[in-house]
Amino acid sequence: MSSVEEAKCVYKNPDAAVEDRIADLLSRMTLTEKVGQMTQIERRVATPSVLSGLSIGSILSAGGSGPFDQALSSDWADMVDGFQKAALESRLGIPLIYGIDAVHGNNSIYGATIFPHNIGLGATRDAELARRIGVATALEVRASGIPYTFSPCVAVLKDPRWGRSYESYSEDTDIVRKMTAIVTGLQGQPPEGHPKGYPFIAGRNNVIACAKHFVGDGGTERGVNEGNTTTSYEDLERIHMAPYLDCISQGVSTVMASYSSWNGRRLHSNHFLLTEVLKNKLGFQGFVISDWEGLDRLSQPRGSNYRQCISLAVNAGIDMIMVPFRYEKFAEDLMALAESGEVSMSRIDDAVQRILRVKFVSGLFEHPFSDRSLLQIVGCKAHRELAREAVRKSLVLLKNGKDPNKPFLPLDKNAKKILVAGSHADDLGYQCGGWTGTWHGSSGRITIGTTILDAIKEAVGGDTEVIYEPNPSPSTLISGDYTFAIVAVGEGPYAETLGDNAELVIPFNGTDVIRSVTERIPTLVLIVSGRPLVIEPQVLEKMDALVAAWLPGTEGTGITDVVFGDYDFEGQLPISWLRTVEQLPMDAKANSYDPLFPLGFGLKGKKEA
Ligand code: BGC
Repeated sequence: MSSVEEAKCVYKNPDAAVEDRIADLLSRMTLTEKVGQMTQIERRVATPSVLSGLSIGSILSAGGSGPFDQALSSDWADMVDGFQKAALESRLGIPLIYGIDAVHGNNSIYGATIFPHNIGLGATRDAELARRIGVATALEVRASGIPYTFSPCVAVLKDPRWGRSYESYSEDTDIVRKMTAIVTGLQGQPPEGHPKGYPFIAGRNNVIACAKHFVGDGGTERGVNEGNTTTSYEDLERIHMAPYLDCISQGVSTVMASYSSWNGRRLHSNHFLLTEVLKNKLGFQGFVISDWEGLDRLSQPRGSNYRQCISLAVNAGIDMIMVPFRYEKFAEDLMALAESGEVSMSRIDDAVQRILRVKFVSGLFEHPFSDRSLLQIVGCKAHRELAREAVRKSLVLLKNGKDPNKPFLPLDKNAKKILVAGSHADDLGYQCGGWTGTWHGSSGRITIGTTILDAIKEAVGGDTEVIYEPNPSPSTLISGDYTFAIVAVGEGPYAETLGDNAELVIPFNGTDVIRSVTERIPTLVLIVSGRPLVIEPQVLEKMDALVAAWLPGTEGTGITDVVFGDYDFEGQLPISWLRTVEQLPMDAKANSYDPLFPLGFGLKGKKEA
């Protein structure tokens, strides 16, 4: 393009109205380029020639795992900028959007601040806290050159057997609605009068958010991941869709379709819900993204008859497709569908307009590259303090003292000798859970942070002896002369279907460890888990105190702040605590459902003492 022609490009003019820029750019695009914009590919297949040759719209890092596991954000920024450079070399120079799952902080990057998973935040019921976490997360994501996160998950959790329970804020729609304030933190606060449904991203310190998974993902039968949610439309709207209204009114820029089905029909091919409801009725003007290989799941065997799957999904209203590997086949098939009219050009244009809208609104055309001045913010003190505050507020005190008149907490920082036990007392990976470092998470010192044991050692007085025995033998327990014990047990990390669990017992022989310690020493039990786990009545009886700590992330100090009494307990259960799996599904309104602790339960540590 000559410089004279370039000057006439409305789409390159930052002062032109966004809708005019979109119309101008769209009018210059070939079908190949339009299809390219609708394509999201995985980082590992993103070569410069693919990016520029096909005008690829977006890249993602699968499940948050990147090329430089445990690497610093500067490495990420270099990588993302490199991809962006290639995209800008395409004929029209359209920047790409790089997306990751920053679902509890920037969990793909070594040294980032890892906040509690959503279930813990739901226990705080603190919308302003969610907003502030959004602000911090946006900065740490931007520091790695990334402008897009696939969060928040606004699922309303109806069965804790679901492997994604911890990604939900609550079983209660109103609590989930409240916590959607994280969207304003991630994207920035839209000004008064901002048109409803229109995407909003305040600036370079904000990121594009994604409300997921539309809709009913948390309501599947028996909590089966990617399963079927059976409800009337009225209940779907009232229970599961309501949080999307809040996201949309905050200008959420993207929405991800759910793998699940509603009354037997997959969301990815659901024209009624994606187009008639989400886009037309709710007025959503950003783009709808598919889930990972979501189109492949529309056929049996999975991935067969791909062309028809594409037709179903795009015609239903999916705008950007997380392909993520078979991009050549995808392009070939979508082009053929467009040429034959099976997918209309107006549908393709609508999808591309929505994608370009988010790109223009987010300022990517003006600022396509990373801002290196943000690098020092990753894992900074202020963010760790915020995460610590979130942990403090998320803790739910379920029992305090065998005799309610004799509270066991707070613990004495100057006790003579403390036993710390259990699989979760000294494991940062377990504290963080899934979606940390890797998709399914892992065990050990996976990043920078403070385990519960570290935090205990930091909290106690100089004369206090802290003995750590993950699985203490009875003889150690008897001869130890301990003042008290802190036992931390819970779930190992998992993600999605890997976490579906029909039993919900405490893994790693957690119940045995609790039994053996509580038998001999006054004990505080901490459950580190993504959901309520079954606690037998006799086991509960023996505990002196019980705290649900959820999946707290990197700041274990938030736990000691509260159990040693510097702060009081504030958390309230975001989900009722079951007695047995046999009593599921939970239904707080049905008289027959009698949980161990109801939704909203949470004792105060000091005041109720
Ligand atoms: C999950 C999404 C996630 C996507 C990209 C899928 O398996 O369902 O929540 O955003 O992967 O990692």
